[in-house]
Amino acid sequence: MNVTFPVEGICGNILEFHDGTRWRTIAYPGGRARSGTYTVTGLRPGGAYHLRFTFYDHQHLRWGPDSRHGITLQPPRVPSWQVTDIRSNQFTINVVFPVEGAHANSIGIYNGRLYGGEWIIPVWNYARSGLYTFRYPNQGLEPGWTYLAWKRYHVPNANDQRAWKHVTLLEGHTRFQTRDLAFYFEPEDVAPNRISPATLNTFIDRQQTVHDGLYRLTGMRRWRGQRMYVRSSRYRLNDIAWAGETIFFNQGAIGEMFRSVQNHGCWSFTMMHELSHNFDHRAWNFAPEFFANFKMAYIMDRYNATIYEGGGRVRIGLAAYRQKFYDGVNMSYRRVFYEPWDYARPRYHQDALTYSFLRIQQSIGWGPFYQTFRYFYENYPTTVPPSELGKINLFLTRLRDYSGVDVIALLRPHERHYYGLWFGGTIRYI
Ligand SMILES: [Zn+2]
Repeated sequence: MNVTFPVEGICGNILEFHDGTRWRTIAYPGGRARSGTYTVTGLRPGGAYHLRFTFYDHQHLRWGPDSRHGITLQPPRVPSWQVTDIRSNQFTINVVFPVEGAHANSIGIYNGRLYGGEWIIPVWNYARSGLYTFRYPNQGLEPGWTYLAWKRYHVPNANDQRAWKHVTLLEGHTRFQTRDLAFYFEPEDVAPNRISPATLNTFIDRQQTVHDGLYRLTGMRRWRGQRMYVRSSRYRLNDIAWAGETIFFNQGAIGEMFRSVQNHGCWSFTMMHELSHNFDHRAWNFAPEFFANFKMAYIMDRYNATIYEGGGRVRIGLAAYRQKFYDGVNMSYRRVFYEPWDYARPRYHQDALTYSFLRIQQSIGWGPFYQTFRYFYENYPTTVPPSELGKINLFLTRLRDYSGVDVIALLRPHERHYYGLWFGGTIRYI
């Protein structure tokens, strides 16, 4: 309520309410209340109350007129919520809470389909009935995505209640498809001023080629041979991309990728890397980032693929790719083993392992790798050891068997030493 006293804060200014049992002072016990807006909390929904407004007229030395006001609060309402509007980037829910602004009243949405889910917009406590619109892009809603809307609400004289419902946004991506891949890009990702339609087609065809090459190398069909999805994503914006049956590609990083594709004709390291992850199997995968990068070498070799690195460097083909893992700035074999600051404490790094395996490949070709991947896939889990050490040792053993070359002898002593330390044992044939 909004009250105005004739004279501020003097003795006799009283504001009270009757709670059904007795009169209670709203503020300033003993009087001396000031004008302003007062809120009384903790009342019973549907309850009837009286307010009393009193002041003492000091000029005429008498009490002013006693003003009383009866109010009846709204009874608890029947809780409800309805999705009133769904678009490709937002949806709106009309929520009715039983008691307005009660502590428990909360509403949020949850993405339950990705990595176990994440809260996106919790409106936490004291929510009021009304329309709640969940928007893209500030709050990260994705076209076509299914969100779990969630609410909690206070019910008088009972436990707080919870309710859920699924809301699927309209699809807003543009779809491009090859035999084994489906790409979902937002219209702005593929605007012609960013990437020309011809370049985009070439890029997409190349990813099908990457897919074919990885299949040829490993002999493995993932997800029963169903199409893999590549999706421009507004979600989890801290990562560039992450692999899986749907490869999510950070929408914010797509611009840079397509700039490289457009200007340098590259195949995209990131795209190939994520597809390569999809062709790994726990049967052999003793070092995921190593295997993703190592299997890419087959694509670089067989298709003369190109990758673009910051600083204007374009690498083409296998030899350049091998060199990358030797002298790259961020992926440096030397950094791992030879730089002065590492002499005191050399350490394992996946990129050094990649360089070592690329040297082995240089000696024995791809044939023994075809056979080794197939051996692991077909013999999992019976004769494939569960530990990473067991897997790398069996992998090297099979490479030796299929090539007739002592591949461990191709490892330099310090490599063998630090790989053994990293995987928890000795690098040896089993
Ligand atoms: Zn990776």
